[in-house]
Amino acid sequence: MAVVMFSAQRSFPLSVRGLRDWVLGLSGLILASALFALTGLVPELILLPIANSVFLWGAGMQMIGTQRFYGQPPGWGLFHVTWLLGLVVMLIWLVWRPDFPTRVAMYSFLMMALLFNQAVVIARHGERHLTTWLFCALSLLPSLALLHRGITALQAGGAGYDILHGGPHHSMYLAILSFMTLLLPVGFMTVATRQLHMLLEQRSNRDPLTSVLNRRGFGEVHARQSARARRGGMPIAVMSIDLDFFKAINDVHGHAVGDQVLIDVAAVISGVLRGSDAVARFGGEEFVVLLSDTRQARAELVAQRIRHALRQPRAVPGLPAYTLSIGIACQHVQGEELDSLLLRSDRALYRAKQLGRDRVEIAGDASVAFALPPPMSLCG
Ligand code: GH3
Ligand code: MG
Ligand code: MG
Repeated sequence: MAVVMFSAQRSFPLSVRGLRDWVLGLSGLILASALFALTGLVPELILLPIANSVFLWGAGMQMIGTQRFYGQPPGWGLFHVTWLLGLVVMLIWLVWRPDFPTRVAMYSFLMMALLFNQAVVIARHGERHLTTWLFCALSLLPSLALLHRGITALQAGGAGYDILHGGPHHSMYLAILSFMTLLLPVGFMTVATRQLHMLLEQRSNRDPLTSVLNRRGFGEVHARQSARARRGGMPIAVMSIDLDFFKAINDVHGHAVGDQVLIDVAAVISGVLRGSDAVARFGGEEFVVLLSDTRQARAELVAQRIRHALRQPRAVPGLPAYTLSIGIACQHVQGEELDSLLLRSDRALYRAKQLGRDRVEIAGDASVAFALPPPMSLCG
């Protein structure tokens, strides 16, 4: 698993965080197992404190990796306290006053603290998805097993306590812990792979500058919406939107301000749409909107709202005033293809440009142009 995670760390984008810590954590666990294997060759008084501490260090790094993965600040305090206390526990109850049950109990509580904290982070910050619940359960179950083990060790006490021959409880504990040590990295890789999948889907379907859909993403949304619309007999409408004199904005204010204007357009359009509508940037300064279950009256209203929103003050200061030309095509025939709708909305947009820009034109027979005053400068 350490090798799998190491290769994932090298190939996954940096935005999938925590993989490096998990690689370090697993390496710690492997080192601890190798140290345990030296029992008999190296005196236990030296070997056990070091091996147990390295084991806690490894489990702690996994917790840190999980916190980083979910964008949380790493809990270095708990991390250092556990592995240092692990060393102290061993020195006290192995070297100074040998007491196996107390040692086992204290060590179990320290491990439990790390795993329980990890389970809480997953439950609080993880996406509501099956992979999250699996990962959370894989952290929670061993932490509960460790709590049970610690309490039983304290209750049993005395010399009769034996980890390997202590009855069904201990066999169950050993089974759970070894199983979970293997499965926990699998749980983490499952959520990390899902995050990678979502990231790639986002990259292939979204425009990196404005974060609205790109042409590919728009095609997918349209395919879903039009299938639904066909089943329900609902019409859809499409809007082609183009910034007026955008080249001049770039020339006067610079390309960076031009980019900010594009981001602003995307935000303004998205702000007036319903959840079932979709907006995409088809390249340059051209946007396309899909309006589900929409006839001409609502399409015109949406266009009006977009133009009205352009006149409102916005959070980003220093943006130049700008206007939009909008072409609308409503589905007159049930099942009209996207290409045909876009062709008609583009034609309407072209007409809006020809007629002087800063206006709305409807494809087909109806033609509307809203005579609104020019927008005020956004910078006030
Ligand atoms: P019209 O009113 O006829 O639409 O005129 P226009 O100036 O908006 O249209 P034109 O096609 O002449 O210019 C489009 C400009 O958009 C030219 C190009 O440099 C600019 N552009 C295209 N993509 C981007 C981008 O991603 N960022 C910025 N800042 N500018 C872009
Ligand atoms: Mg333009
Ligand atoms: Mg254009």
